[in-house]
Amino acid sequence: MSTDSAAVPTPSAASAASPGADGQKPEPRDFIRQIIRDDLASGRHHAIRTRFPPEPNGYLHIGHAKAICLNFGIAGEFAGWCNLRLDDTNPGKEDPEFVEGIKDDVRWLGYDWHDLRHASDYFEVFYDAARKLIRDGHAYVDDLSADEVRAYRGTLTEPGRNSPFRDRSVEENLELFRRMREGEFADGSKTLRAKIDMASGNMNMRDPTIYRIRKIAHQNTGEAWPIYPMYDYAHCLSDALEGITHSLCTLEFEDHRPLYDWFVDKIDLPAHPELWQHLREGGFRTEPAKPRQIEFSRLNLSYSITSKRKLAQLVNERLVDGWDDPRMNTLRGLRRRGFTPGGIRLLIERLGISKQNSVIDYAIFENCVREDLDGSAPRRLAVLDPLKLVITNLADDHQETLSFPNHPKDESFGQREVPFARELWIEREDFAEVPPKGFHRLKPDGEVRLRGVGIVKCEALVKDAAGQVTELHCTLDLDSRAGMPGAERKVKGTIHWVSARHAVAAEVRLYDRLFNVPAPDDDSDGKSWLEHINPEAKRVVRGWLEPAAAAAAPEQRYQFERLGYFVADRVDHRAEAPVFNRTVTLRDTWAKQAG
Ligand code: ATP
Ligand code: MG
Repeated sequence: MSTDSAAVPTPSAASAASPGADGQKPEPRDFIRQIIRDDLASGRHHAIRTRFPPEPNGYLHIGHAKAICLNFGIAGEFAGWCNLRLDDTNPGKEDPEFVEGIKDDVRWLGYDWHDLRHASDYFEVFYDAARKLIRDGHAYVDDLSADEVRAYRGTLTEPGRNSPFRDRSVEENLELFRRMREGEFADGSKTLRAKIDMASGNMNMRDPTIYRIRKIAHQNTGEAWPIYPMYDYAHCLSDALEGITHSLCTLEFEDHRPLYDWFVDKIDLPAHPELWQHLREGGFRTEPAKPRQIEFSRLNLSYSITSKRKLAQLVNERLVDGWDDPRMNTLRGLRRRGFTPGGIRLLIERLGISKQNSVIDYAIFENCVREDLDGSAPRRLAVLDPLKLVITNLADDHQETLSFPNHPKDESFGQREVPFARELWIEREDFAEVPPKGFHRLKPDGEVRLRGVGIVKCEALVKDAAGQVTELHCTLDLDSRAGMPGAERKVKGTIHWVSARHAVAAEVRLYDRLFNVPAPDDDSDGKSWLEHINPEAKRVVRGWLEPAAAAAAPEQRYQFERLGYFVADRVDHRAEAPVFNRTVTLRDTWAKQAG
């Protein structure tokens, strides 16, 4: 795998988008879409059907967004459809809470499914299909223990050995399999295995397990089943039952494709309506097909973890504040952080689809989100590290309402009223008593433009006992105000402010990347990924907002001018007690450190 932190798929991967014929939005042209175009042109398929098949054992993460955008995107582009299928064959690890979360997240990304299905909807068909395999001499009940099965399997360089139970008669196998289903045997005491080839060069073909005994309740089927099908068996048959034409999955399944095809061919659901008749009777829209598996590379992001298991560990060990913690790259974490569905879709579109593994620089993701927010987020004023600025040539009770554009590049966002008065808050870092070279903001005897107001000059400082500056006393050049003859006078710096009397105090959560190294998963330095958690990834400050920002609804996103993009927290924000999360700074602050 390439670990070039700036890696994007190369043009040779033929994955990048090329401009559409009308010069509008580029049309994605990757190898999967090319296969689909060819299949439509040759008449192999007349309609395209895809599915997104998460296991409900956690919430979705940014990696899943790639599979979602690909499957639902293709269905949309080719006038086909895409199912959401919950791959729920592992009771015990799965939870209805995750099912609801997954549905929510897919909709939030902007997609809707044709049918919502569960692998468990098909448990009866899977059972009948396994009986067909037994009858056709393609499956047997094995009494070897898990350890024995492993020992018999052989290695990459040595062939496996046949189980002593491999040659049981069809009748005995059918009877034992029936008794497995009746719950007569203990967990782990028997398995149903496919009879393929113990000497195959592909380990997946060495008599893989089809069913295991697990006496555990299932969230959908309750106590009905003491046996559960294995992923490789259930997945391809689910695809076939739903009439999926192109089963898109990540590269780690490439070696499983021969087994996928083996099950699909040996069971041949389209030719055996008796196997799925009761699904039709149960009201399922089912028209089985022979699906084709195609693999693409996973999305890996630097400074991130994309493994549900590890994300679950962060939650369970309370290293973050839940699955929707804004530091998490779960879709709900990103949502709470203020990342947009448009920014996520833009990332996936830019990276394209290929078979080439790479690690995408997190900065590319942040730039996509900035790009989306730049066009869509209204502007507001906020001060996060306040220093008082008093305009001494205005009356104590001076008060005005200024009109500010909500977006500098888009008039359709309209204007808003911003209160202005004699005492303001400015950012402490916009003043320097001893300015470094090239400092163009406020300094003793220096001038700066107050955004939307005019030019102020710093005449005097007030300090506390410790020598810390607590107030700046300034005069406003009344001639530099809007409509006055000196309005065009130039000074080098412009700073933002809020009126101290009108501003609303807010809790502002400054988030940053959760890991402080590009490859937290890389343990070649002997360190666990947990040791790379960035302690600075969450900092909470008290800031001051202009009133129009405080009044936001939860999940409203803004650019706080000069500071970054922020979102009103969807859980904790109230107009009278605002809580904002920083989504991303205006510029990349990591490039310097890395370079
Ligand atoms: P994890 O390892 O995080 O548990 P998974 O692959 O086991 O992920 P599933 O719920 O089985 O998670 O995934 C559903 C679909 O999403 C699968 O088709 C899988 O290939 C795809 N997917 C998962 N992670 C990624 C990723 N990083 N990039 C692209 N697709 C992914
Ligand atoms: Mg999985």
